[in-house]
Formats: sequence, C-alpha cells, structure tokens
Amino acid sequence: MGLYDGVDLRLNVPHSARMYDYFLGGFTNFAADREAAGHALAVAPWLRAAARVNRSFMQRSTRALAELGFDQFLDIGTGIPTSPNLHEVAQGVRPDARVVYADNDPIVLSHAQALLTGTPEGRTAYVEADATDPARLLAAPGLRETLDLSRPVALSLNALLHFVPDTHGAYELVEHLKSALVPGSALVVTHVSPEFAPEDIATLTRIYEAAGTAAQARTRLRIARFFDGWTLLEPGLVPIAQWRPSPDEAPVAAEEVSLYAGVAVRP
Ligand code: SAH
Repeated sequence: MGLYDGVDLRLNVPHSARMYDYFLGGFTNFAADREAAGHALAVAPWLRAAARVNRSFMQRSTRALAELGFDQFLDIGTGIPTSPNLHEVAQGVRPDARVVYADNDPIVLSHAQALLTGTPEGRTAYVEADATDPARLLAAPGLRETLDLSRPVALSLNALLHFVPDTHGAYELVEHLKSALVPGSALVVTHVSPEFAPEDIATLTRIYEAAGTAAQARTRLRIARFFDGWTLLEPGLVPIAQWRPSPDEAPVAAEEVSLYAGVAVRP
C-alpha cells in the first residue's frame, strides 16, 4: 500500500497546506502547489520568513503554556508535519502531555503518523475534521479518548482563521470551541493582517482565491474579537515576532511577517 492509496488528494489544484509546506522548504508539495506558491512568493518574498516565524511562535507559546502547567493541547489546522511538531515541544516540557491534532486536508491525514510518535507517558491523536463544524470536531472519538474536557485545554488556531471568512462562520466556530473549554483553558491564535503590507496582502488574497482557497486578512481589532471574554497573557495581541521573542533569534520587522499573535486564558 502506498502512502496516498485510496485518498483523493486533488493534486492538480493547489492547496494552502502544501503551499505553506513549500514556503517552509518541505517536500510535501506538488507542481500545482509550487506554481501557486511561486506566484505568491513573487509578490511577497517575505512569505518564507513569515512561515518560519509562525512556526517559531508555535514553539515559544507551546513551551510557555506547558511551563504554566498545561498538559492538554488541541491544535486545529495542524498542517503538514514539520519538525518540531507541537507535541514534541509540549512533551519536551511535560512528557505526560496529551495532544490532539485536527485538519481537514487529506494530505495532512496521510502524513499524520509523524504526529503520533510521542512520549510513552503522553498521548497524541489525529482527527480529520473541519473547523467550520466544531460540534462534530469536538465529538470525534479520537479527541474524546485523548482529552479530558473537564480539565483545561490549550487550543491553538495558528494560521487557520484567515482561511475562514466571516461568511463561513469564523467567529461562531471560535465561540463554539471556547464555550466547550473550562475556565483556565487557553486560546492561541496567529492571523494574517492587512495593516503592515496592505497591497501585498490584497494581491495574496486574490492569488489564494484564484487557487480555490477562501481567505480573509483581519485587522488587529477584528482579530482581538476572537479573544472576547478571555484574558490576554503578556504581551497581548502583538506583531508575532514581538510575542516573547527568543534572544537567539534575529529580529524581524512586522511588515515582513504580517501576522499578529496572541495567547489568552479563560477566566
Ligand atoms: N497551524 C500550522 C499550519 C498552518 S497552515 C502552523 O501554524 O504552522 C493552515 C492549515 O489549516 C492547513 O493545514 C489547512 O489544511 C488547514 N485548514 C484550513 N481550513 C481548515 C478548516 N476549515 N478546517 C480544518 N483545517 C483547515
């Protein structure tokens, strides 16, 4: 059996997860993905750096939450496995951490094995689910068997919500997920904003839409609304490179990433 047997990956159309993999220098991308990603890079060569900075934030925020005591993580819009994955960072701090990954792209499912090799004390699971149907996602047996929703969970929606326009229920899905988590839970979001490089972002939105992927960049104010009712941890909702920067990373300008990031806790 081959890796992709029985799965319709629609390799002739570009896909956001495989374009992102290409920006990161990964190998899980195909001609159509590379062509669309090439158009995007021609407009915004900074996308490669942005993808790396986004991964580096995932590591810093996951480590910070694990150090705060979080031992349950739900990562929606996981993407194609990239080293290190979230569970490796979380279990590096808390070997007993339990991590559930969810994505709606069949190619992520095909590679999910790489996401399931955690510590013996911890546990990882992969759920194929669409974020726009949060009730179904939360009911998935793999999630229920891995996470105890009566205890706090760190939910991450990294580089996901800009692929869910308002008309597809972005705010409703986030509120649904938030309401399923008990006080003390955390919400982690990274999101593209048009505020830093408006022309590039307008062109990129058109490139993604032409490739069949809906996209909506949001201003800081609109991104802040996803955290409504929860308390942002220091330093708040900020240009991503300013979120607890690591001293050994070179500084990046906000317009070279066009991403905001924040972590909040349910009071
Ligand atoms: N979270 C990772 C990957 C971001 S790429 C990171 O920050 O590095 C965006 C991912 O979201 C892709 O893997 C894509 O397949 C997934 N995605 C987009 N729309 C989705 C939806 N409606 N439901 C679930 N996953 C989705």
